[in-house]
Amino acid sequence: MRFRSKFVAEVRRTLTALGLRACPVCGSERLAFSEWPVLLPVKGAPWPSRPRDKDAGVMYAVAVRCDVCGHVLLFDSECHRAGGPPIVTSLSEAEGDELDEAGPAGTRA
Ligand SMILES: [Zn+2]
Repeated sequence: MRFRSKFVAEVRRTLTALGLRACPVCGSERLAFSEWPVLLPVKGAPWPSRPRDKDAGVMYAVAVRCDVCGHVLLFDSECHRAGGPPIVTSLSEAEGDELDEAGPAGTRA
């Protein structure tokens, strides 16, 4: 499972426009946006537990990692999603790119 390439590119553009251009720890501009979601439990344990926590869920976070010092910043993917196709896919990058080029009618992920 990974984020679709187009989605990560959109998040990068948005965060850069908001001012994220350098690592807040070391100042390096070598920031890597990962296509691999970081899953964070929210409002309880999302995995089977006793008693079952019905409010629990999982946040799919976009990780931005500094290549110099390793500092990691996490951003809630839901804040960057404005409808449209699913942002998480099990398709390969090439398969996802093919669907993106096909447009909304070809979107299925
Ligand atoms: Zn850094």
